[in-house]
Amino acid sequence: MPVLVMKFGGTSVATLDRIRRAAKRVGVEVAKGYDVIVIVSAMSGKTNELVGWVNETSPMYDAREYDAVVSSGENVTAGLMALTLQEMDIPARSWQGWQVPVRTTSAHASARIEEIPPANIMGRFADGMKVAVVAGFQGVSPEGRITTLGRGGSDTTAVAFAAAFEAVRCDIYTDVDGVYTTDPRVESKARKLDRIAFEEMLELASLGAKVLQTRSVELAMRYKVKLRVLSSFEEQSDDAGTLVCDEEEIMESNVVSGVAFSRDEAKMTLVSVADRPGIAAAIFTALSEGGVNVDMIVQNISEEGRTDMTWSCPVDQVMRAEKSVEKAQSDGVINYHELIADREVAKVSVVGIGMRSHTGVAAKMFQVLSGEGINIKVITTSEIKISVLIDRKYMELAVQALHDAFELHKPA
Ligand code: ADP
Ligand code: ASP
Ligand code: MG
Repeated sequence: MPVLVMKFGGTSVATLDRIRRAAKRVGVEVAKGYDVIVIVSAMSGKTNELVGWVNETSPMYDAREYDAVVSSGENVTAGLMALTLQEMDIPARSWQGWQVPVRTTSAHASARIEEIPPANIMGRFADGMKVAVVAGFQGVSPEGRITTLGRGGSDTTAVAFAAAFEAVRCDIYTDVDGVYTTDPRVESKARKLDRIAFEEMLELASLGAKVLQTRSVELAMRYKVKLRVLSSFEEQSDDAGTLVCDEEEIMESNVVSGVAFSRDEAKMTLVSVADRPGIAAAIFTALSEGGVNVDMIVQNISEEGRTDMTWSCPVDQVMRAEKSVEKAQSDGVINYHELIADREVAKVSVVGIGMRSHTGVAAKMFQVLSGEGINIKVITTSEIKISVLIDRKYMELAVQALHDAFELHKPA
């Protein structure tokens, strides 16, 4: 039998009623003759609550125990989904990551999937099981401990299963009916895209569009998984939602195809560091060893042998960054006057493969922001994106103004 992967996110399994509704969708696909692998998230809000408990108990927590706690939300929904399907007379069984097993690296809280041997689940399909319900977001390390894949990781579980089982398609059921030109919760004029190129989706995801976890898009691109995003709340036809596909499969696209944002950023500046060869290496090694995910970096021109170094990172990592830099100072690895943290910034980005062949996108973006009186603090660019760091209070305004200026509400 052909295998289909269906993933249901947190809002789609938030209550027993919604689990029933999702199970009905699964029943429709089973009736078409598929063996179905259902990947479930925790009920919405559950993972946040678990993360909160960990932080309250131990702010500089041991990541192994973080994973032990936060992986548990998915176990509940996997069992409930299997029971719901059984009540509908559909032969179903739940699987936690370690039972499959979903083998991952031991990078706790952000582990990568290394291997999913299909034999176990395939054997059960051969015995008449119709649906394997798998707890998303979790796996098992070479040391035999439970790992998690980073926030939003159930998307990656789903795509990894689709690749390992050579599924006909990987359907991501969520609370919006596809991928939009920007988050429809921030810009009501956002337009649903019928198709989006892997590379654009990869940028949008990594720049903050949480509709798909970045790693899931990477995997889909690498293993040529047919990936679709659609709503779990509406009746669905076979071409509903958004297909994430190769660039060649898209006929027309705008120069800019989407606007992404990341709300909870911080900007940190190390003031007056002794400038010498190896100083950037020393600072960023310290931050990396402290578990800080540095994003943008700017170094000022140095004066009299001293310079300022600025970077951005997630706002909840500011404390880790401070501790790492202070330790490097006391170890004599770096020498600086002051560390300033601005916790009130956000990153806004425009993305589009059309930027490869069109000039002037950056100039237009900066004009639009200046027209709204928004000051740009840091800029980074790549071939198909431009990102700026701005005051968080202007984030929505910036997203809406850019969406308007690049006419994203109009089809290409
Ligand atoms: P799930 O719980 O199903 O995994 P998520 O909350 O992780 O759902 O992702 C879906 C959300 O992503 C939407 O509700 C929407 O607010 C947000 N989002 C951000 N950017 C986009 C975009 N470009 N298109 C669609 N949704 C987006
Ligand atoms: N429950 C996890 C989270 O909220 C994983 C997921 O939903 O994808 O991050
Ligand atoms: Mg998600």
